[in-house]
Amino acid sequence: MSDVRNVIIIGSGPAGYTAALYTARASLKPLVFEGSVTAGGALMNTTDVENFPGFQDGIMGPELMDSMRAQAERFGAELVPDDVSAVDLSGPVKTVTDSTGTVHSAKTVIVATGSQHRKLGLPQEDELSGRGVSYCATCDGFFFRGQHIAVVGGGDTAMEEATFLSRFAESVTIVHRRDALRASKAMQERAFADPKISFAWNSEVAEIHSKENKLSGLSLRDTETGEIRELDATGLFVAIGHDPRVELFDGALELDADGYLKVDAPSTRTNIPGVFAAGDVVDHTYRQAITAAGTGCSAALDAERYLASLV
Ligand code: FAD
Repeated sequence: MSDVRNVIIIGSGPAGYTAALYTARASLKPLVFEGSVTAGGALMNTTDVENFPGFQDGIMGPELMDSMRAQAERFGAELVPDDVSAVDLSGPVKTVTDSTGTVHSAKTVIVATGSQHRKLGLPQEDELSGRGVSYCATCDGFFFRGQHIAVVGGGDTAMEEATFLSRFAESVTIVHRRDALRASKAMQERAFADPKISFAWNSEVAEIHSKENKLSGLSLRDTETGEIRELDATGLFVAIGHDPRVELFDGALELDADGYLKVDAPSTRTNIPGVFAAGDVVDHTYRQAITAAGTGCSAALDAERYLASLV
């Protein structure tokens, strides 16, 4: 086993890199596991980010994440493009095992593993992500001014996305597999009252069409009759839920009712002393780069104070 470090950070999105920057500047020499496939996190899969403060002309997602990475590295964060495969968080010294089986130990661990949005699983969905297919109305709604948009889902998130998008869109069609919504009554009523929103009941997206590598329309399948019909849309917002990446912590860290890591808000303390959590693995409400970065900062400060309390 290696020497006991002050901080190990798991995750390399805005939360992980911000925690790395702050702990590095506090001379805590953090070791950051970035993940082997998606180092840089969710924003590596997008194009323009127009709502991260400080970039008046916007910035490309990968460029923003490269800058965050370089900034953390500049102050001494040790960044490893590898996955954590196991953790033992129980004692005062926590251990983290990487993909080669090497065990690393630290007095504190910051978990910033993010969450994965659920996909429809259709051909072209990945290819057209950022080119008409989106998973976040707050992030991308502005790009769809005056367009016809479909929102898939029947819960609160889908209703919220649809009512938000109706500010920009020419029309919004909520595509739902059943003939009734799961969303709360208040959210349903807001959507029903919106003149720009209509519903495609008992429907699912059967096919995504594209022209010049941009979404150009959808085929909907009737879930009862199997009948196919075309929907004129240049935007598709998939709002069928997110899965926080919590498998590593199964049984060790307390989860909330929705399966996200539970923290003693407004702090980032989990149920285990010395273990902190930040970003989308905790947050099912805001899910933005800036809020993830904000809680990454809080986790770093919480870890710093915890370490100070040990001496
Ligand atoms: P993530 O960015 O998801 O990063 C988590 C990291 O943890 C990943 O790098 C992953 O590899 C790593 N990880 C997970 N498990 C392990 C493990 N076992 N070992 C090592 N590493 C691990 N937000 C905005 O504010 N503006 C936008 O314009 C915007 N556009 C978006 C576009 C798209 C397509 C998507 C998907 C999201 C967008 N968002 C946007 C949301 C934003 O990306 C997220 O809110 C933010 O990235 C969450 O940050 P995070 O650090 O919590 O997690």
